[in-house]
Amino acid sequence: MLACGWRADEHATAALVRRGREVVLYGATAGSFDALTRKRGAFNLLVRGLRAAKAAGVAVEIALIITKRNAHEVSAMRAIAEKYATSFTEYANISPTYEGTPGPLAVQAPGWLDKSEVFRGCPAGHTFFHVDPHGFATMCKVGRENPVNLLTEGLDGLVRLPGIADAQMLRSGGCSGCRLSDTCRVCRPLARVYQAAKAPLEIYCQHGNGDDAP
Ligand code: SF4
Repeated sequence: MLACGWRADEHATAALVRRGREVVLYGATAGSFDALTRKRGAFNLLVRGLRAAKAAGVAVEIALIITKRNAHEVSAMRAIAEKYATSFTEYANISPTYEGTPGPLAVQAPGWLDKSEVFRGCPAGHTFFHVDPHGFATMCKVGRENPVNLLTEGLDGLVRLPGIADAQMLRSGGCSGCRLSDTCRVCRPLARVYQAAKAPLEIYCQHGNGDDAP
C-alpha cells in the first residue's frame, strides 16, 4: 500500500500497524514538498505521521520522489528516510501516467533519470492489479486498456486480466518492429503513454540516445 502519509496521526497509526505501508517523500523541506504536492502544511503532516509511526513501531518504507524542485535536497531526504524508515527507494523517472499529458515530464530532474535497467518483464495483471475509484480493474495504473468493471462483472472478471495484460505487453504501435526492444528500458504500456504525451525520446527510448547507431 502506497500512501501520502499526511493523515498518519496517532489514530491512523493504529491502522498502519496492521498493514505494511510505503510513504511518499516529495522533499526535505516544507517549501519543496508543499509546492510539489500543492498542499500547504503537507510536509509537516508527513513528518508528524512518520514520528507517530516510529513511536508505534510501524515498519514504514519510504519512496523518495526526486524532481527538479527537490533534487538539491536529496541528501536531506535520504537523512529523513534513514531516520524514520526501515528501507527506502529512490524514484526519478516520472511518467505521464494518468492524464496522458506531458506536464509530469517537466518536473523530472534530468541528471537523475535512471536509464540503466533493462526491462525484463513484469507480473502486472498476473500477480497484482490496479483498481480505480470507479471499480475498474486494470493490469496496473499505467496499462489501462480494456478495464474490467468489477461492479458489473464481479471478481470473476479478474480471470481475464492476465490475457489483457499480455496483449498490452506486445511491442506494437509506436514500438512495432523495433530492433532494440530486447534491451528496452520501459515496458510497452509505459512507452505508449510517453509516446501519447509526445515525450522527448531521450527520456525513455533508446532511439533518443543514439543507441540505434550502426
Ligand atoms: S527502444 Fe523505444 S521504440 Fe524500441 S521498444 Fe523501447 S520504447 Fe519502443
